[in-house]
Amino acid sequence: MTMAVNVLVLGDGTGGLVVSNLLRKVARRKGVDVNVRLIGNSPLHTYQPGLLFLPFRKPGYRSLADIQRRNSDFVGAGVDYRCEIIAAIDAQARTVTTDKGSHRYDWLVLALGCRTMVDAIDGLAERWGTRAHGFYTPDSALRLADALDKFEGGDLLVDIAEMPIKCPVAPLEFVCLVDEYLTRRGVRSQTRLTLMTPLNGAFTKPICNEMLTGMLVAKGVEVVPDAPLAVVTDKAVVCPDGKTVPYDLLVTIPPHEGSDLIDEAGLGDGLGFGLTDKLTLKSKKAERVFLLGDNTNVPTSKAGSVAHFQAEVVVHNLLREIAGEAAEPLADGHTNCFIETGFGKAILVDFNYDVQPVPGRFPLPAIGPMTLLAESRLNHLGKLAFKPIYWHLLLPGRSIPLVGSQMSTRGKQMEVLAARTGGH
Ligand SMILES: Cc1cc2nc3c(=O)[nH]c(=O)nc-3n(C[C@H](O)[C@H](O)[C@H](O)COP(=O)(O)OP(=O)(O)OC[C@H]3O[C@@H](n4cnc5c(N)ncnc54)[C@H](O)[C@@H]3O)c2cc1C
Repeated sequence: MTMAVNVLVLGDGTGGLVVSNLLRKVARRKGVDVNVRLIGNSPLHTYQPGLLFLPFRKPGYRSLADIQRRNSDFVGAGVDYRCEIIAAIDAQARTVTTDKGSHRYDWLVLALGCRTMVDAIDGLAERWGTRAHGFYTPDSALRLADALDKFEGGDLLVDIAEMPIKCPVAPLEFVCLVDEYLTRRGVRSQTRLTLMTPLNGAFTKPICNEMLTGMLVAKGVEVVPDAPLAVVTDKAVVCPDGKTVPYDLLVTIPPHEGSDLIDEAGLGDGLGFGLTDKLTLKSKKAERVFLLGDNTNVPTSKAGSVAHFQAEVVVHNLLREIAGEAAEPLADGHTNCFIETGFGKAILVDFNYDVQPVPGRFPLPAIGPMTLLAESRLNHLGKLAFKPIYWHLLLPGRSIPLVGSQMSTRGKQMEVLAARTGGH
């Protein structure tokens, strides 16, 4: 009789839940005897995309109760969920230590996410929650809602401190939603709305960057590119080159770091992001270790959709290694993201490591019904539908109809890319 294989999944957020649930299901279907243990310290699971809407108290996003559920409700049958604080990973001894004891593993999956580092910017921590706000954590999003209520015009500055950040389009969505919010309250004309970014425009990918930057400018938003954040004072933010932009209300996305545990285990890049083979999702530093979600250093967006697509590859490759076969290079960086543009509209982008967002239809060619890289009301409804999809399909490890883990070029106007690159 063969012994069951012990797989330990670290991190009980999006990636950890999806990969645990999916692994248990696929292993059972294939008749592979696998014990799946999931360890994390968040009994309450926050639907993080909902943090974008919380400051505006949109219907369905008025309080934390609207975007939080008990994690245990999403742990599938056969997954052994332990609510513990992870203290150390020993990838040589294949042991993980927590506040409650130690766990041995045969294979390890890291899904520890990443964190915002308010302390990393001079002057930010002491103004956090009073002069300077954010919306990337539940507490900060709620305090921002109160600050917005009191805002009666002046300089409203949205600032991305540095890259990488989770969901790199969320700050742009915030700018669009605050534009709508101020318009509806009648204070938009008294407000100078500015987006400061370390990038050379609104987004990283050239075609999308041009489109989104143009859209923000058309909304009367001042875009300040190539402007990483160095210092926050009471009245202004300052870049390393001395460029200074004033504010009355500051909304910052602080620098992000991965997990210290990853660096301390010798698996990281020094900022807590695991050195990951972008195609197989294996650790580049240790055998029998896979990574997914925000704690990887792969060159794609840090998004829930990405973690979901990566989970399928991790499960596939993990089961191959258990069977004595080599992991396959199946991860393509597929990202699918609705970008809220205000006044009940949104844009959809679907891209991977090699193919930047292009216009087109999604998920079906010609029919859509979603439009790629173009605003539509239906895309906005798709963004709202992502919440029930997240709870009922994504977290339980079910597949999303017509959306595969690898990006499809069906419905995409690939000729736009060819025209831009001269056919190369
Ligand atoms: C404002 C905002 C808007 C967003 N919008 C979108 C969107 O529209 N679409 C989209 O796809 N994505 C969006 N995202 C991104 C998405 O939420 C994340 O990319 C996704 O949650 C990443 O999953 P993860 O498993 O890697 O990390 P997480 O979900 O953050 O999970 C990490 C887990 O690890 C646990 N953990 C860490 N350290 C320890 C430890 N020492 N001991 C025990 N447990 C530990 C944490 O408690 C946490 O549960 C958004 C994010 C934000 C902040």
